[in-house]
Amino acid sequence: MSGQIFIQLLNPGIGLLFAVAFFLLWLNRRDRYVAYAAAAYAASAAAFLILDVGPALPYDLHRVPANIGFLATGGFFAAAIIGRYGLPIPWRAMAVTAALSMAVFLWFLIGRPSIGGRILSISIGAAIIAMMIVTALWPIKKRYLIDRVLFWVAALSVINLTARPIVLLALGGGFDSYDGFQQSLYWTTVQFSQAMVAIVAAISLMVAVAIDQIAELRRQVDDDNLSGLLNRRGFETRAGPTLRRCLDDDRPVALMIADLDRFKQINDNYGHAVGDAIIAAFGAHVRASAPPETIAGRIGGEEFALLVPGAAIDTARQFAEAVRTGLAAAAADHIPAALVPTTSIGLTIGTPGSNLSALMHEADQALYEAKRTGRDRVRTFTPASLRLAAGGG
Ligand code: GH3
Ligand code: MG
Ligand code: MG
Repeated sequence: MSGQIFIQLLNPGIGLLFAVAFFLLWLNRRDRYVAYAAAAYAASAAAFLILDVGPALPYDLHRVPANIGFLATGGFFAAAIIGRYGLPIPWRAMAVTAALSMAVFLWFLIGRPSIGGRILSISIGAAIIAMMIVTALWPIKKRYLIDRVLFWVAALSVINLTARPIVLLALGGGFDSYDGFQQSLYWTTVQFSQAMVAIVAAISLMVAVAIDQIAELRRQVDDDNLSGLLNRRGFETRAGPTLRRCLDDDRPVALMIADLDRFKQINDNYGHAVGDAIIAAFGAHVRASAPPETIAGRIGGEEFALLVPGAAIDTARQFAEAVRTGLAAAAADHIPAALVPTTSIGLTIGTPGSNLSALMHEADQALYEAKRTGRDRVRTFTPASLRLAAGGG
């Protein structure tokens, strides 16, 4: 009995430890799926405490809340993993499964007492709930290792929950009474395998939480909230490598810089909030109309840079014109009717050997030309040598 107590405290201990850990993680950043993970481990701790440490009730009725606890563990665990992917959590299907499995359990407790029947009813119910994780995650793209790990934790839970009772009841020949059940090979295996699964699942989920929080921080560092585009830092970290890849692959690539016209005046006449609304509308307009690979950022107050992989000069000009002419309509709903915002755009094309800062400089020169010649227009950079040869200045 003396050694037994440690095995009996194994799962409540693990459950409480991780329930507290996930709860603290949840306090830090209120992701709902982290709260579900805390709830799953709390339910598991409670269930094992009731079964192994708490007093036995007449007719073994303490097994009813304990097994509700096991099914709740499965449900909250499924909610945690499925919720992490922003997928709909099948609460109703899980509740129906749990209710059916409790009904069968009660039948085998009171109607026709059978320990084997009770074990199977709860195990199969929990396996069906775990299967809901597998089917929810099956179609989604598992981009990172952690996505595959979470999928396999769920799949292994299904296998564990299905195979364990069948194999062990077959080997042990079932139980006639609970005498010696707590010390049986079956229950010791359950306690041990459950502890292993609980630890593996908790570590996987914690890695997932850490990855999600780092990704979120990275987004905050690289994103511009007002426009919904990247900020200068985000633009430069992505545009540099993408430009290099295009040039290496002999793929056309265009860079444009857009600067909103007479913005100081707009702020002065209509207020800063109207100016902000135009910046937001510009961002939404670009996000809606840019080719999918476009890297777009707000690189200054009312200045934007767009790198468009795959765009040769004609496509790039067309897109720049679309950005320019679409701005007024995009902003119309958010600003006074008398105000028609315009933008000037400088455009340049990547050539072998160029780099991001050289292209930015070229686009800036073209933008300056667009401003100088009257604003609300697109100008394409032409090297000084060509301008001279054409007799321009
Ligand atoms: P131009 O046509 O030559 O570009 O004239 P401009 O007034 O737009 O040029 P300038 O660069 O002198 O002024 C830019 C103004 O944009 C200054 C600043 O008040 C405003 N601005 C910069 N960032 C923001 C912002 O986040 N929100 C708002 N509402 N205004 C901003
Ligand atoms: Mg401006
Ligand atoms: Mg400016």
